[in-house]
Amino acid sequence: MIGLISVTAAGAVARDRLAAAWPERTRVYEGPAGDAVRAAFAECAQVVCFLATGAVVRLLAPLLGGKTSDPGVVCVDEGGRFAVSLLGGHGGGANELAREVGALLGAEPVVTTATDAVDLPGLDTLGLPAEGAVAAVSRALLDGEPVALRTEVAWPLPALPVTGAGSGQEHGYTVTVTDRAVEPGPRDVLLRPPTLVVGVGASRGAPADEVLALIRDALAEAGLSARSVAELATVDAKSREPGLLAAAERLGVPLVTHPAGELARVEVPNPSAAPLAAVGTPSVAEAAALLGGGELLVPKRKSAASPAMATCAVVRRPGRGRLAVVGLGPGARDLLTPRARAELRRASVLVGLDQYVDQIRDLLRPGTRVLESGLGAEEERARTAVAEARAGRAVALIGSGDAGVYAMASPALAEATRDIDVVGVPGVTAALAAGAILGAPLGHDHVSISLSDLHTPWEVIERRVRAAAEADLVVTFYNPRSRGRDWQLPKALAVLTGHREPGTPVGVVRNASRADESSRLTTLGELDPAWVDMMTVVTVGNTATREIAGRMVTPRGYRWQEEPR
Ligand code: SAH
Repeated sequence: MIGLISVTAAGAVARDRLAAAWPERTRVYEGPAGDAVRAAFAECAQVVCFLATGAVVRLLAPLLGGKTSDPGVVCVDEGGRFAVSLLGGHGGGANELAREVGALLGAEPVVTTATDAVDLPGLDTLGLPAEGAVAAVSRALLDGEPVALRTEVAWPLPALPVTGAGSGQEHGYTVTVTDRAVEPGPRDVLLRPPTLVVGVGASRGAPADEVLALIRDALAEAGLSARSVAELATVDAKSREPGLLAAAERLGVPLVTHPAGELARVEVPNPSAAPLAAVGTPSVAEAAALLGGGELLVPKRKSAASPAMATCAVVRRPGRGRLAVVGLGPGARDLLTPRARAELRRASVLVGLDQYVDQIRDLLRPGTRVLESGLGAEEERARTAVAEARAGRAVALIGSGDAGVYAMASPALAEATRDIDVVGVPGVTAALAAGAILGAPLGHDHVSISLSDLHTPWEVIERRVRAAAEADLVVTFYNPRSRGRDWQLPKALAVLTGHREPGTPVGVVRNASRADESSRLTTLGELDPAWVDMMTVVTVGNTATREIAGRMVTPRGYRWQEEPR
């Protein structure tokens, strides 16, 4: 819950806008500021004060407990110009909240946490539990001091400005991705990836303490950290077993259950007759742990109690790499979506055509490995991107417009395997960017056709152009004409001319949304192919498309326009 506090009328207006926008998330505290701040501080995970920072600092000072327990606090000034992250920037989520509040109220978010200010990911914001000298190592990263990254377990982290995979110099700083129960030194940070699956079996009524003690002993003897446990896994029949539910809750992980039939099919080292009779599978703990694949680190063991009421087994799952296929839009920075931007910053490896890499290089985090290649190396780029993801890394594969439209998504996904996560980010494709410049040419059914016959036989292309012509579809031609391919566009236009008047509007847009954007509106009869090159799309109207006030407009259809109100 976010507590909202204001004292003046101007503050109350901004406060009410927040409250109206987030009715579920917010609660308004009325009354004298001191009482309101104290109550909100005690009851809420986050607080937004529409007060001067000085006033808030004085009110908060006696209430401060510690970085891990205090709520995140954001201050918004009377004029609504700034949303200041005052307290709990990372742990309390105040930096993020300042950005959200800023976006909502049109205020500038003010974030002073060092790592955010220079746009480095805080070591405690990577989505993994962090242990050890988080502040010292973050500062070392900021100051450009050597920090070595050791990844014992492959995990798709964003780029960190580390100096390499050094073996931990005597006095250097280190960041180690590990699920092992090692103690961090004074200059070390341990990141805990959720790699461990603990399979558990339990007799009815097995006490939570017994289950927990068994798990803790098993992890300790195997030298593994409880903070890397991703889940407890068992058989469906035990989904309501109180001891298992309580143990999972105390470890802070979900209890995941599987049908006995599925577990029975998993090959395990230590099957036994007892669970087969009781729940229908010769193994619960080992089978549930191994179901998703991985390496069995702790074979089935029983608890020390007598009679033993619980069993467990521990498996390390391989880290899953991440492949983001990101469309950059047609060129202009403000047509790059916030999601695409976030994925670029989420990656440690960027794969793409050199000219597209140049378009967004300034957005990458320091330390991002850039694998750029020239035109034509599509398959190699696709293979590289997939191979990097399969090695457990966070990869962004970029393309202009939408990366799925005549671009990298299909060759990449043709190579991709189930062992990686794939995330697609749509982009504004050239046809849409051009459409917005021309007017409303795509207002009714439309199609895109690439005139590049490098990979598609011309007969196939021509057949599709003819079909579009017969079906009276608006057509946008991609890859319309290059120095070596100059006869295809006239031929395609000739096919359309067989079905449409010479006066049919045609839009030619070059470098949509880029610095040297140009466009012209002409007709099928008057189009000069010399205006067209590879930076251009050509949109041909259907038989209903008109030029209206200098804009290209395809009506939605007569029926729609005559519909009674
Ligand atoms: N994935 C891209 C298309 C790649 S094919 C997208 O979704 O837009 C390359 C063709 O796209 C070019 O030959 C040109 O026809 C068209 N194109 C791409 N960007 C363009 C832009 N900014 N302006 C005009 N045409 C563009």
